[in-house]
Amino acid sequence: SPVPANADCVFCRIVAREIPATIVRETDRTLAFRDVNPQAPVHVLVVPKAHTTTLTELADDAELLGVLLQECVAVARSEGIVDTGYRVAVNTGEQGGQVVQHCHLHVLGGRQLVGSLG
Ligand code: 5GP
Ligand code: ZN
Repeated sequence: SPVPANADCVFCRIVAREIPATIVRETDRTLAFRDVNPQAPVHVLVVPKAHTTTLTELADDAELLGVLLQECVAVARSEGIVDTGYRVAVNTGEQGGQVVQHCHLHVLGGRQLVGSLG
């Protein structure tokens, strides 16, 4: 069933198909789509469909957290980078560099990534 869109949230609007995105995977609780400004040959964002602002808020739902991580691995597999390696990153809060206030996991790969932990 469709998830009500938070009109102020770009990722809720992508989940609701109100704005376009290149979707790569979908489950009942998650959506994976390509980052509009990719930082690597593979740059996919994995989000919970239900609006949740930060990883900190999401931490109560261990099952959903597990599904989100599994979806990151599934993206890596379907993008052909599961053997060459990839990075999963979650920017959280202001000093964590989070810009979009709907929790998302970055899946990055397809080139040699170097340390960029801030
Ligand atoms: P953050 O810094 O919040 O972890 O990263 C937000 C990411 O969302 C950025 O990499 C940015 O390019 C991506 N992004 C922002 N707006 C859109 C959008 O409308 N569509 C897509 N596909 N990605 C977006
Ligand atoms: Zn949202």
